[in-house]
Amino acid sequence: MSISEKPLAAEDAAAGERSRWPILQQPRGLIVYMGLLLFTALFLFGAAAALTTVTLADVVTFLALTMCAGICVEAIRRLGVPAGFARDLLGAWWFPVVLLLPPVYSLIVPIPVFLLLQLRARRALAHRRVFNATAIGLSGFLASVVWHRVAADGLWEAMGGASEAHDSLATGAGVLIAVLCCAGFTVLNTLLVALAARISMGPGATLRPMWDREACTVDAVELCVGVTVAILAQLTLFLLAIAVPPVLLLQRSLLFQQLQMAARTDPKTGLLNAPTWEQEASVEIARARAQRGYAAVLIIDIDHFKRVNDNHGHLFGDQVLLGVATTIAQQLRQSDLLGRFGGEEFVVLLPGADTSEAWQAAERLRSQVGCMEISVDDVPVSITVSVGAAVIGEHGNDLVELLTAADLALYRAKETGRNRVCLPAGRPGAPNKIPGPREGGGLPGRGGPVGEVD
Ligand code: GH3
Ligand code: MG
Ligand code: MG
Repeated sequence: MSISEKPLAAEDAAAGERSRWPILQQPRGLIVYMGLLLFTALFLFGAAAALTTVTLADVVTFLALTMCAGICVEAIRRLGVPAGFARDLLGAWWFPVVLLLPPVYSLIVPIPVFLLLQLRARRALAHRRVFNATAIGLSGFLASVVWHRVAADGLWEAMGGASEAHDSLATGAGVLIAVLCCAGFTVLNTLLVALAARISMGPGATLRPMWDREACTVDAVELCVGVTVAILAQLTLFLLAIAVPPVLLLQRSLLFQQLQMAARTDPKTGLLNAPTWEQEASVEIARARAQRGYAAVLIIDIDHFKRVNDNHGHLFGDQVLLGVATTIAQQLRQSDLLGRFGGEEFVVLLPGADTSEAWQAAERLRSQVGCMEISVDDVPVSITVSVGAAVIGEHGNDLVELLTAADLALYRAKETGRNRVCLPAGRPGAPNKIPGPREGGGLPGRGGPVGEVD
């Protein structure tokens, strides 16, 4: 995945508001890991700086590339940054630093760029910025050492940066090696961030995949642009002037796409947000009505979620939200529509589901969430959900009626003990029977009480 900034798991802007030192609220393992990386980066900086001969040409190249990155940051600020995890094309400027300058510059370049990003474009928790800058600096440094080592002779000369590395970009083989080094940079940075995300999560929590087709495409584009910029800058720095506009344009289209996506999704869980879910669910329900078919709505609410927050903190609460969202999503079909409705409430539209199918789906979701393995400091925490279900034609005829009916059913599920599925009270003339082992009763769920049917 890319060398733009990456998210750590369950980080929350609210954490920054609650404490002057949000880093202290992170798991101890994460603090140690971040400290180790920072210490390594500082040590390498000291060693590499001692071996590097500072030349005017290198300083000018460094300043020119940093200025180009600064222009990109300003463009990000003007367009706006989507909430949550956002991708940019700043890597287009890291790669030339890796390839054209002695490795020590790769350790330094994230500092001014991230400072600018923090001050001008989007505020993030300070420790997160420092960690991302360290991960990018270290990955870039190692890629640069390998690149200079291949292009020149001897590791220590490589750390000091050899001029032959410049010339290597003029050959086909050199470009290929440059691409491989930059790809290594991307992979290493992603692994460093993924490890931090893994450490910051509980053992049972699920890590969102860091590589998917979209991320790989952006990485590939970033890599191609970065190596091309390096080749141009190697010819003459003035050529950077013609490299900036296309990079800005690419970055703009990337951010625009993300802003569009962000307007539809909930940043904490990646699910559809409430307005988008309602819009898409209305269309599905209208279609089901036109075809005289079925569709069901489920409202799923985490039980005693406030206690989870109170006992283990909001960051853990956010992990639970993500875990529940992932567990539910894994149980649904492609055609089902899942959204986050509010704080700890999720909504599902099941196209084509009659009462029996809706009931079975709701029971499956309830029992799977109940089986989720999630723990704090190795102590397992049990999470359960209550579900209210309503079916078109039986409990309502449009989305508002279905949501109202499902909400009343959910209320009953809460009142009658939680960790159960309920259907709405029967309306006159509406069939209200659920096929199951016991007539008029619920299906026993794994590890939970018996489901409820009116
Ligand atoms: P019940 O079983 O009756 O549903 O009890 P509950 O505690 O789950 O419900 P209540 O409505 O009392 O509390 C919901 C809690 O959800 C309170 C709020 O702080 C928390 N919450 C809402 N949104 C978020 C969020 O995005 N992250 C975290 N961590 N907590 C949230
Ligand atoms: Mg609730
Ligand atoms: Mg709740």
